[in-house]
Amino acid sequence: MEKYEKVIWLEIHVRVKSQTKMFCSCKNAVELASDPNMNVCPVCMGFPWMLPALNEEVVRLGVKAWMLMNCKINKTSRFDRKSYFYPDLPNSFQTTQMYETITGAGSVKVMVNGEVKEFLIHHMHLENDAGKLIHVWGRTLCDYNRAWSPLMEIVTEPVFYDKEEVMEFLKELQKMFRAYEISDADMEKGQLRCDVNISIRPTGEQKLGTRVELKNLNSFSSVGRAIESEYARQVRIKESGGTIDQETRGWDDTKGMSATQRTKEDAMDYRYFPEPDLLPIEISDELIEECRNSLGELPIEKRVRYLNDYSLSQDDARILTADVELAKYFEALFALTWDAKKSCSYITTILLALINESDEKIQISELKFDIRELASVIDMVNKDELSSINSKEVVAELFKNGWNAWEITDKLWLRQKNDVDALMKIVEQVITSFPSQVEEYKWGNEKIFWFFVGQCMKLSAWQGNPKIFNDLIKKRI
Ligand SMILES: [Zn+2]
Repeated sequence: MEKYEKVIWLEIHVRVKSQTKMFCSCKNAVELASDPNMNVCPVCMGFPWMLPALNEEVVRLGVKAWMLMNCKINKTSRFDRKSYFYPDLPNSFQTTQMYETITGAGSVKVMVNGEVKEFLIHHMHLENDAGKLIHVWGRTLCDYNRAWSPLMEIVTEPVFYDKEEVMEFLKELQKMFRAYEISDADMEKGQLRCDVNISIRPTGEQKLGTRVELKNLNSFSSVGRAIESEYARQVRIKESGGTIDQETRGWDDTKGMSATQRTKEDAMDYRYFPEPDLLPIEISDELIEECRNSLGELPIEKRVRYLNDYSLSQDDARILTADVELAKYFEALFALTWDAKKSCSYITTILLALINESDEKIQISELKFDIRELASVIDMVNKDELSSINSKEVVAELFKNGWNAWEITDKLWLRQKNDVDALMKIVEQVITSFPSQVEEYKWGNEKIFWFFVGQCMKLSAWQGNPKIFNDLIKKRI
């Protein structure tokens, strides 16, 4: 056990994939436009007397997000103004939700190293993004394409204890938001931004240490590297008798280190106050119903169904339902085989491993073979025409070159032999080759039985039916 443990909570900004910006009809810059200041208007440029109008689509996508994160919905929520001093927002304030947010607490279940863990969300709120500042030739240029684009900010509880948990959690959010078109959530493109708050404490202690906030993390792996680096830095300070300052540090991924951006002393006074130009957000029962229907079966509902209807394990149900396409593939394969266990294991242990190992990261919908070929493989295994060990080779060949499961099985000489006379000859051969083991078995060492089965399988080049070998050896000795 390590002397110090880390405790982490996250502030995540997700760029909402609506058609237009949050409070005006400008095109929403889901990705930055080719030219600066293409998508601006008097409202998002903060001209005097211009009034914002809330984009309903943003609320709708926000409602879907809370359903996915099992959050408590606040049917009435409000906007607040937060003073803002940088030129990337022309209004000198940001519109956000400080006092009455759109959601309360929730949770997201994530698979971490084969174990399902539930991470608590403190709340989610809506706010607008800032523009982009470009510093060249000693001057600063402003691009307002992104200014007033909608963001969801998700704040978690301090519930993460290592980098794997954080990285898997972020990947899970990305998967959910992409599946339901809430956001493309690409970290490299700034559509999913994550600030990591990290503190350390002696292992076993309850009280939280002083937190340091890490910014500028723009990939899942940089999040992992920054957490490790900051943990080591805080441990070094503690071990040398120093104290950790509450501060914000910027991560430099190329240098692999962070540097102070601002300390608590100069933290700004944001002077929040209720936004006078916008009405409260009222979420009707009709909107909730509409969103629920458009989401269809929620991942969590699907998971429960997979546990009950298909008797899959927790882990398998989780993996299959985490990806909409994968779940569809599983259900289609089950419809062909009526064998839930094998349909699941051929997807999760064989097919996904092949996809992960291949250089081209293909999707399950882009496989080179028809799903009926995989169903044929399972059918052959169930009919004892192909051993489960050899079936992996057939699936690997299908994955690589496509074609037909039956023909591959014959071409690779993998069809299982069920001919009793032929298999008996192999049994005879094994028994005469190992007389001392036969004696041992007769004296009561029953474990040695599996040695004979193994030798028979080997001699038959793994094509003999192990069940028939089993019976024949028993009869013979
Ligand atoms: Zn605008």
